[in-house]
Amino acid sequence: AMVATRASDERGTAQQVDVAVVGAGFAGLYLLHRLRKAGLSAVGLEEAGDVGGTWYWNRYPGARCDIQTIDYSYTFDPELETAWTWSEKYATQPEILRYLGFVADRYDLRGDIRFRTKVTEAKWDEKAERWQLTTDNGAPVSCRHYIMATGCLSAPKPPEIDGVKDFKGEVYFTGRWPHGGVNLAGKRVAVIGTGSSAIQSIPLIAEQAAHLTVFQRTPNFALPAHNGPAPSDRMSLLQADRPAYREQARQSMAGVPYPQQTVVSWQLSDAERRERFERAWAAGDLVHILTQLWADQAVDVDGNKIVQDLIREKIRAAVKDPETAAALTPHDHPFGAKRPCLDTNYYATYNRPNVTLVNLRQEPIKAITASGISTNGRSIDVDVIVFATGFDAMTGAIRAVHPITGRGGKSLTDVWAQGPQTYLGLTVEGFPNFFMITGPGSPSVLSNMAVSIEQHVDWVVDRLAALRDAGFTTIEPTETAQAGWNRHMADCSMVTLHRLANTWYTGANVPGKVQGLMPYTGGVGPYRSICDEVVSRGMLGFKLT
Ligand code: FAD
Repeated sequence: AMVATRASDERGTAQQVDVAVVGAGFAGLYLLHRLRKAGLSAVGLEEAGDVGGTWYWNRYPGARCDIQTIDYSYTFDPELETAWTWSEKYATQPEILRYLGFVADRYDLRGDIRFRTKVTEAKWDEKAERWQLTTDNGAPVSCRHYIMATGCLSAPKPPEIDGVKDFKGEVYFTGRWPHGGVNLAGKRVAVIGTGSSAIQSIPLIAEQAAHLTVFQRTPNFALPAHNGPAPSDRMSLLQADRPAYREQARQSMAGVPYPQQTVVSWQLSDAERRERFERAWAAGDLVHILTQLWADQAVDVDGNKIVQDLIREKIRAAVKDPETAAALTPHDHPFGAKRPCLDTNYYATYNRPNVTLVNLRQEPIKAITASGISTNGRSIDVDVIVFATGFDAMTGAIRAVHPITGRGGKSLTDVWAQGPQTYLGLTVEGFPNFFMITGPGSPSVLSNMAVSIEQHVDWVVDRLAALRDAGFTTIEPTETAQAGWNRHMADCSMVTLHRLANTWYTGANVPGKVQGLMPYTGGVGPYRSICDEVVSRGMLGFKLT
């Protein structure tokens, strides 16, 4: 009798919905909109105080998208597309956040979201065929389907350096930048890290600070953004035939409509290669330079090396001090095997008298002390330390909900002990009615994520509606399908150069993280075809009950 009473109490207090959506970023917002249109009841659960996800948290100076904003937008509603105009080729974080707020208002989504509410645990109840979610704020949630739209780059990596607590000055993380901004004028600032966020913020921090010391472990390839108005050639392509432009993006390799190159590097003369490269450099577009030079640049070591050398030449020309230029030049990975960065004055910033680069490969950090940072060689006193040390990418936010308990009491952490195992990057065997948006095993961070997010959300919501209409209550991938997907993932990654780089794509940036390439390298368009084929072949690889 006691047990029965407790169970009914729990049922009484839990919020009952068809679907729980964790996260209110690009993915969570679109999910809530689509679920409502499909007639499924849903609640959004979001740790932050408002919508925006990435664009809510990352408020550091210089934060911008680095896929052109006309491509990094929702495309599901043509009226939304014409109701919003971007002011720049690469919009700033405040503008993207305003856009996501505009979307939330336009489709009236905020009312369905519980903000400042973190999901802490999730458990599949086999009898009820429902997920029970525990939160740190308010009622638990009972849902038929549990969708993690928790983001690929949303769990900041904790600092690996001893002594942060001893430091008497100010400490900031680019991924958790204070809403009111930070006054760095006249201060001695340290930035630790030289990834995308650092490369965007360093030029602006250098303009404010009395002195800036940058601590670099691994240099990245950075390309000029040439920000400004959206380029007229891209705008005219979009405006000439918007639906065709969007469709081409969906079928493309990276989620941006560029044609496939067929000419390989050795078919071109030196002069022709240089001409293509200079055109790409002037375009200021990551996807252009990653895909439009020659067909072998991402799959062949020699074809890639030509690009690397041309970029290294640019770095040498931009940085006056040869020693600093050498330290800033990457030699440990093929171009594109690690996410390249877009910069605005990044390399030129090292020509300023108030900027110093510390090369941690030669001079590792020993500790953070009360007054600053000490390396093997010296102690550098600073007032402010900025950690631009990146994220526990792709799996960090998923694993932070702990435990996620599936069928038979199995925990996702255990199932993923040797690395993430998924079917299509969307689902996991043993975890019925559980979905991840842009999860490990999908193109995700190797794509324009706006396109990948819309594809995942459409696929998942369409499946949930079809399941309901056919009278099924559960969906789960088979073990065979999951093993097959992992095999296919491995095969695809062997034909790219990703295998030659240790990066956050492979988990190498987080100590103790299992190593393995997490995103699917087969391309956005081919991936979409596979997902569609799974459906047209009667939900191939899934078990429905
Ligand atoms: P997010 O925007 O990360 O949202 C996930 C949300 O889930 C967060 O708000 C988080 O608080 C919440 N959450 C997580 N766990 C829990 C929990 N347990 N309980 C409750 N809430 C939780 N991609 C591109 O394609 N182009 C770009 O130019 C680009 N620029 C970027 C720049 C920066 C600085 C960063 C960090 C990322 C960038 N990205 C870019 C990737 C970007 O993350 C995606 O494009 C997109 O914003 C992801 O949306 P999302 O909704 O999937 O996840």
